[in-house]
Amino acid sequence: MTKRMLSFLKHINIENIDDFDIDFEMVSRNRFKRDQIDMVIVKKTPWKYHLLRQFQDGLNRIDYPYLLRFSYVTRPDIDDLLNILDDWYQTLYRLPHNLEIDATNDDFIKVLYSDETEEEQYVPIISDFRDFLDFLNYEFSIVEEVKPKEEAINIPKSEIRKILRKATLEAEQTIEEESTTRPVHDRSEVEQLIESEKMQLNEETEEAMLKIAKQNARAMRRERERVRLNKRGNYQPFETIDDIGRDSDNVDFSAKVFSIEVNEYGDRKRLVIGLFDEAGGAIYANTYQNATINDELVIEMKKWGTNVRVRGAAFFDDYNKSMAVRAHFIDLLPPDIIPEDKAEKKRVELHLHSNMSAMDGINHMIEYAKHAKTLGHHAMAITDHAVVQSYPAAQEAAEKTGIKMLYGVEFYMIDDVFRCIKNPADIILNKAKYVVLDLETTGLNCFYDRIIEFGAVRVENGIVVESLDILINPERKLPKKIIEITNITDEMLVDKPIIEEVWPKILAFIDDAIIVTHNADFDFSFIQHSLTRYGRPKLNNPVIDTLALSRYLFPQSRNHRLGSLCRNMEVTYNEDSAHRADYDARILNEVWQPMLVMLTKDDHHLTHADLGKLETPNTLRKYLRPTHTIALAKNKAGLKALYRLVSYSHVDYFADVAKIPRREIEKLRKDLILGSACLNGEVFKTATYYGDDALKEAMAFYDYIEIQPLENYSFLVNMGEMSQEELLVHVKDIVRVADELGIPICATGDVHYVTKKHKIFRDVYMNAKGIGGVPHPLNPYSRNRVPPFENPDQHYRSTDEMLECMAFLGPEKAYEVTVTNTNAIADMIEELVPVPQNHLYTPKIENSEQILKDLCFSKAHELYGNPLPEIIQTRLDKELNGIISNGYSVIYYIAHMIVKKAREDGYIVGSRGSVGSSLAATMANITEVNPLAPHYRCPACKYLEWTSESMPQYRSGYD
Ligand SMILES: [Zn+2]
Ligand SMILES: [Zn+2]
Repeated sequence: MTKRMLSFLKHINIENIDDFDIDFEMVSRNRFKRDQIDMVIVKKTPWKYHLLRQFQDGLNRIDYPYLLRFSYVTRPDIDDLLNILDDWYQTLYRLPHNLEIDATNDDFIKVLYSDETEEEQYVPIISDFRDFLDFLNYEFSIVEEVKPKEEAINIPKSEIRKILRKATLEAEQTIEEESTTRPVHDRSEVEQLIESEKMQLNEETEEAMLKIAKQNARAMRRERERVRLNKRGNYQPFETIDDIGRDSDNVDFSAKVFSIEVNEYGDRKRLVIGLFDEAGGAIYANTYQNATINDELVIEMKKWGTNVRVRGAAFFDDYNKSMAVRAHFIDLLPPDIIPEDKAEKKRVELHLHSNMSAMDGINHMIEYAKHAKTLGHHAMAITDHAVVQSYPAAQEAAEKTGIKMLYGVEFYMIDDVFRCIKNPADIILNKAKYVVLDLETTGLNCFYDRIIEFGAVRVENGIVVESLDILINPERKLPKKIIEITNITDEMLVDKPIIEEVWPKILAFIDDAIIVTHNADFDFSFIQHSLTRYGRPKLNNPVIDTLALSRYLFPQSRNHRLGSLCRNMEVTYNEDSAHRADYDARILNEVWQPMLVMLTKDDHHLTHADLGKLETPNTLRKYLRPTHTIALAKNKAGLKALYRLVSYSHVDYFADVAKIPRREIEKLRKDLILGSACLNGEVFKTATYYGDDALKEAMAFYDYIEIQPLENYSFLVNMGEMSQEELLVHVKDIVRVADELGIPICATGDVHYVTKKHKIFRDVYMNAKGIGGVPHPLNPYSRNRVPPFENPDQHYRSTDEMLECMAFLGPEKAYEVTVTNTNAIADMIEELVPVPQNHLYTPKIENSEQILKDLCFSKAHELYGNPLPEIIQTRLDKELNGIISNGYSVIYYIAHMIVKKAREDGYIVGSRGSVGSSLAATMANITEVNPLAPHYRCPACKYLEWTSESMPQYRSGYD
């Protein structure tokens, strides 16, 4: 034997080396598959099965896949073949095969089946044996034959076999319900039974055989499974763990480790490794420690999240009732790429949602803080939607990572000042002259878009006295969308006058009348912008907005477009003629006249200015569209202000979401820093529709103006509300106007998850319905009408990433908004600790300890007598000690009082959670659930009997 083979055999733990007359003929790396070893082993004599087993078991300890071939110095003969068949079968199935074999030829053996049933049973087994011979490189054939039917002389034997087969089958089927204690395989026992042809067939033998058959079936199963689980090679790649199923055989997949358990059995160490993947699947892998699955690998796997590649056999784990893997090979994979921020001075993220932004934010604060730390950021904000639930987690994360936490909230702000007029005038409505007008335009932005049609009617004493309809050449092509909506085409406008030529006519028509229009913000802004563009003075006519009045008069109506208002006022609105200025103006007048009657029916002298004093009805708040507003706490007082606002918004102004009126924020703003938020913020909306003046007015409310990566606004582009160019124009307008006003601009990410790979989870949230069935703002029903599109990527960006997003501003400006300004805001904020010393500041009630004790014991004595049975006394003492020493007595007492008050007021009170396992809670009347073991109690004499032999056995189902 060569040295090489000697050390190889030692390497695979073979000690009785002298029994192995083998040597290497060739060992080489496979040319095409570099990690595979090909070897040819030459053997002097044919194999003895037990040696082969030993050799194979040894090979299982080697770490690389191998391809093995044997060659022989002495050709095995038929006897060798029969011996190996007997041993092979015996080892696998734990009993002799009983096959009749004709071995008269030197090159093949003939298996003679006594009947078809026997054939059916053995064919797959013989086929396995053929594979086995291939593996051994034994060049024999096996021929199978069913013996011609002869009159059964041998009834008892075949009968016995039949029974045995039936029993085996039955045993296989019932085996799962059986306990899996190791069966005894007594070969002689079986032989005795099967060989005793003379034996009388009776119930006893049948039963005995059944028992043995069951044991054997179990053993066979286990052995077959053992062989399967240890059989290497032919690994099928799996992309995700969840794809591994009962029909998977050998599998190959990558995963992360979440747990590892090491158990020692003698000198072997068994590992159970918990694995998961990014797709959300998880599986356990078990294996024995060996040369490659060694201590070093185990140490690596003890680190949470270690990436590994696992190759092994999949199986269904009956104990855990889930798929598992017998691992053959485990390879370390490189760790995840650690995010980097190479910028010298880092940005600060001022807009971030944790998992407490319900159904919107993904990650826990510690994940964000760790990420920020890895990037080298020194501060970060938390701005959940209308809540502060993540503050304790944020504080802990800040303490753990040393990141300065900026505590904030993204509020849903509403303007509940009711605005349905402009330029208030003391004109009595019933005596006024009106011009009811409507415009068609090239788009929604009064600054960039142009008027294409002016339609109006002049109304005096309720009667239309004059009407005007003018088409106007906008000197540009119409967007397709506008042509679709209005049916006005470029051809219709090409020979029409431009706006400047028709202003004198329009102004003369309007004269000094009250202007009535539906959505005055829109129409009036267009008129004013158009006038100033040509150096004309702005209009100062009184204006009435029927859109706002519609909200006031029909608060329950979900939508207030002209068509809906017509429906509410029972005026016919023809959708075919709609969206042309002359038609809409006429219809609007038909609506306006009865509205006027409704408004003045109680007060005939109501003036235009009086309309400005209409109070916001409470119901209206529900329908006011909130705008997003960020508030960061500057100091302790600011934290308190945030808490107040969060409370108000949930208690007083909750409607679909927790809204907060602007005036409530204004009252507390001295200790807050206000940011203008996202595409749902007032600043961005104003920039899209109302031009510079309105934008200046809107911005004045904020301490800093947010702009976000253009991708964050892509929803609007994808929904067809604006083009990418228009979007860029709006964002640049925001920057320009903010600069004019000297308000700092900050680039914020509106972060909803840590890394890009978490995006998928938010996509899932977006498809779910929120509270009250309201869809996610980025997934409205109307999204179904446009082609599918990707949601924006809102991960936590590094400084470089953000600079790149802001590159459209030029390098200097990009740096200012990304780095300089965000740091300046962070520096304005004190280090804050929402929960000082992590201490629970429980409320104090004088003497609550004694009160709680008295409560509990008086009830206990009332139920169980005085003195109490020892078991109850002990338990109550133990519970009360724990409650009181940890400062919870006041909580219990408060709970007691709440339940008492609720019951007195006629509410049904149910309890849940751990309160069901507290006897003190029962005795303090907090819960009706008694956590003691089931018992009988006599109300009169306090006799107590626990569930016992004499009573039916009840088990407490609580907790
Ligand atoms: Zn927002
Ligand atoms: Zn946000």
